[in-house]
Amino acid sequence: MEKIELKLIKVTDRIYYLPHYEKNDWCTIGLVIGDEHVMMLDSGASRRHVEMFMQQLEENGLPKPDLCALTHWHWDHTYGLAHLQGVTSFATKATNGLLKNMQGWGWTDEDMKKRIETGEDLAFSYPHINDEYPDKSEIKIASATVEYADTLTVDLGGVTVKLKAVENSHSYDCAVIYIPEEKCIFLGDIHYEDLLPVQPVYYADSHAKLITALRKFDFDKVLSGHQMLMSNVDLYAQLADVKLV
Ligand SMILES: [Zn+2]
Repeated sequence: MEKIELKLIKVTDRIYYLPHYEKNDWCTIGLVIGDEHVMMLDSGASRRHVEMFMQQLEENGLPKPDLCALTHWHWDHTYGLAHLQGVTSFATKATNGLLKNMQGWGWTDEDMKKRIETGEDLAFSYPHINDEYPDKSEIKIASATVEYADTLTVDLGGVTVKLKAVENSHSYDCAVIYIPEEKCIFLGDIHYEDLLPVQPVYYADSHAKLITALRKFDFDKVLSGHQMLMSNVDLYAQLADVKLV
């Protein structure tokens, strides 16, 4: 298996992130450091993804998380959760329902291909899951400790994290993670297309609702699932420059 080396990046005194890794479809993992609690943002794709994140925290003398918030159900954001010990996790009710459903999935090649045919899983993820998990018995799927319907605020001590479900094109269960004191928002994949159709799609109505919802948050720093840190200006330019159906 290919050796991957990623370095943790500082955003503010309280926020760090491990960048995404495109080849393996690893997502960005965020960290918010409060005086009382430390929250990981998305849980990564696998045990080795989580271990790399934890090793980077250690190398940088940073505290380990006792909390983890998930943005949505896709494997690269959630399959690391089972490898976090003593961590209380948060997800929307919709995400948690999908996680619990996935716990019953079989992982033969036939099972995987069938789910792509029925639209239960993404064709896009198939080669990446195969790369990350040559041995499918290593796939462990945990569900979140705490589920919420629409909004949840978590006080980490000196900094708060607001989790909010928002309509979008990518997946119906998506939430954003907003850190008001740091003027930072963690998007996961909410600003990307729906990857289920053969041609990825932005839906005009959902896309407009996403932009309207984002405008209500006051932020200047944007962390997202598969890009480096960007500004609010970069994000809105990106959102304006998509092809809608
Ligand atoms: Zn996704």
